[in-house]
Amino acid sequence: MSLQIYINGTFHNKEDAKISVYDHGVLYGDGVFEGMRSYGGKVFRLEDHLQRLWDSAKAICLEIPTTPQALGQDVIETLQLNKIDDGYVRLLVTRGEGTLGLDPNRTSRPQIIIIADRITLYPDEYYENGLRIVTVKTIRNHPAALNPQIKSLNYLNNILAKIEGLEAGCVEALMLNHEGEITECTGDNVFLVRDGDLFTPPVEAGILKGITRQVVIDLAAVAGLKVHQPPLTQQDVYSADECFLTGSAAEVVPVVQVDSHQIGDGKPGLVTCDLKQRFHQLTRE
Ligand code: PMP
Repeated sequence: MSLQIYINGTFHNKEDAKISVYDHGVLYGDGVFEGMRSYGGKVFRLEDHLQRLWDSAKAICLEIPTTPQALGQDVIETLQLNKIDDGYVRLLVTRGEGTLGLDPNRTSRPQIIIIADRITLYPDEYYENGLRIVTVKTIRNHPAALNPQIKSLNYLNNILAKIEGLEAGCVEALMLNHEGEITECTGDNVFLVRDGDLFTPPVEAGILKGITRQVVIDLAAVAGLKVHQPPLTQQDVYSADECFLTGSAAEVVPVVQVDSHQIGDGKPGLVTCDLKQRFHQLTRE
């Protein structure tokens, strides 16, 4: 059976799952989304993802024509119908079909789409040996222009940074903000370890408030680590003992080199490995 895609309450074969070219999601990137993981048929932190989806929608004055409870059920149904236990779910809400003008009032009903698919993980090697990343010239969106807390369908800021990273031979790229402070990578949050404490940029630096980021902060507290969220500089990254990234798809990935600087001894650090292990346990328990 072909993969079944949910569009507005109806399932379609992947090949037939289509929306209008007049949808403002297509014309303008006008919409919001979430990327989630399922483990053993259960969506990890589903309520948090739904809350963030509703928050993002509210920030762009988009009213989602259902409730978080009902949409959560639809997500689970999509996974079950496709018989996916360990997978990735992409949930999106577009502004809907409209005119060629920007006016969101001249659109029809928002379109809700759920895609549940198998997960393509980073290769094991990245987890075992760590990633090399680069800082890119493309700065993260200024929060007063397009707040990175809004997970919108317009990901060009991140895509431009990703292109720069790929040109440097890296699968992830570190973005600074307009003040030159560390923000996050193109699809992952960033953490540092120094003298046994954990550091991650504050939301005010202009980042997506990652759900994995919060889980790791909570796990770190359980592990007895102090967690700080001060503004961070490139120098803080270069001089860190350890560095790692977090995201729903990536989970916890060690970083062993940033630009031309080796982090710590160039191998995934002990704190990173411990948190990675705790995260693994939490999601698979
Ligand atoms: N930052 C950005 C820009 C992202 O797109 C994502 C999600 N891929 C993250 C951070 C990590 O967020 P989460 O842990 O909620 O997946």
